[in-house]
Amino acid sequence: MTASAPNEQQQNRTCRKCLRNKPITDFVKDKRQPTGYKSICRLCSTDEWKKSRDAHRQRFLEQDLYQMVVSARDRFLAKFPQRGDNECWEWHGMDKNHYGSFRVGGIGGINIHSHRAAYMIFKGRIPDSLLICHTCDNRRCVNPNHLYAGTYSDNNRDIHERARHPHNNRGENNGQSKYSERLIRNIFKLLCEGRKQSDVAKLLGVSPRFVSRVACGDRWKYVFDEYKHLLPLARNI
Ligand SMILES: [Zn+2]
Ligand SMILES: [Zn+2]
Repeated sequence: MTASAPNEQQQNRTCRKCLRNKPITDFVKDKRQPTGYKSICRLCSTDEWKKSRDAHRQRFLEQDLYQMVVSARDRFLAKFPQRGDNECWEWHGMDKNHYGSFRVGGIGGINIHSHRAAYMIFKGRIPDSLLICHTCDNRRCVNPNHLYAGTYSDNNRDIHERARHPHNNRGENNGQSKYSERLIRNIFKLLCEGRKQSDVAKLLGVSPRFVSRVACGDRWKYVFDEYKHLLPLARNI
């Protein structure tokens, strides 16, 4: 026996899916398989994973968000300390915008703001076209006594009156935009809930073209950057 056995790195095998002959390093190790490796290559594995995630997400988007949130009540209640009726019930953790974030739908699901979930769980369905606002101005608060459903125009006005945002030379303050930053955030909130761009445009009274430009980060890039990881996969493009 002069020829030594090829070491692991030099072995090739054929992917069951794409039928290409590839080096063993292109296959993920899998102890459950007799060969010690998955029978499909890394590229095909990723591909299959993406397909199943997309299918899951599609199913998720067809479900009723309210029912999903309400059925996750127990998990929701474990995420914050319930204090007195008039105190803020602060969510554990927050997103970049200082809102609490609650995951529904598992893989392929979405994150929704925890105060919106709180409204659904404690008060009921959020009427279409209404926002959930805080009377306490504490974005992490999920005390239903501090939450009310307001209109988008109320909220767009509020933001100017309260001047809560410190960004002075961007977006609405640069003198070039006729839209408020809050309006842009509302566009993203609705998109994050899986609504179609055309529906969002109608709901907020802006053009579908504007929504589509905002949704791809063409305008208001810094707001887009905050929300892009929360956006569901585009389904109406
Ligand atoms: Zn393959
Ligand atoms: Zn509060």
